[in-house]
Amino acid sequence: MKKKACRKCQVVFATDKCPICGATSFTTNIKGRIHILDPAKSRIAKTLEINAKGEYAIRVR
Ligand SMILES: [Zn+2]
Repeated sequence: MKKKACRKCQVVFATDKCPICGATSFTTNIKGRIHILDPAKSRIAKTLEINAKGEYAIRVR
């Protein structure tokens, strides 16, 4: 299954709905991806307001 990014929280996933917020609104147009391993210590996670570890799209359309 092709990877998608949630339009709301930008998490990257390959299931039918977002595993974090449950939204079914997503995009497959992913511009870049990052892996957040420790959201508490990551400056990028803070900037993107990410609270859970995982793979995220940097920019979605
Ligand atoms: Zn989401």
